[in-house]
Amino acid sequence: MARHFGDDWLIPALDPFNESWFTAGKITVQSCDDCGVFQHPPEDVCGSCQGTALSFVECSGEGTVESVAVVHHPVHPGLSDHCPYAIVVVSLDGAPGANAIGNILNRDPGDISIGQRVRAVFEPAKDAKTGADLLIPQWEVV
Ligand SMILES: [Zn+2]
Repeated sequence: MARHFGDDWLIPALDPFNESWFTAGKITVQSCDDCGVFQHPPEDVCGSCQGTALSFVECSGEGTVESVAVVHHPVHPGLSDHCPYAIVVVSLDGAPGANAIGNILNRDPGDISIGQRVRAVFEPAKDAKTGADLLIPQWEVV
């Protein structure tokens, strides 16, 4: 599978908070050990109770499209050949309140709508800076 936005499209530098998201090949989110809130993207503090005891939990990899925006104007020259493309917000099954932002690979942008069920798929890639093996989460309508 070729990367959706090309092999040279950068992702954030890997760190202890985002590494599992970009490398594990599964959908994981943080859960606060103190108050039970799920949050994504992961941080060092719970956004609800400011606790610092946070664990990663694995989700099913399925969810629901909560929002979709179709981009027609490239905001970066590297995206010129990819317009139009859709950006979706996916509510994650098993992690109420946690949403992921991503792309839908198997539908034209105009055929994506709120409420569609989606599942995660993972794009194999190499991190351009470190050479680390990546499995970048993307989404497909089921
Ligand atoms: Zn908390």
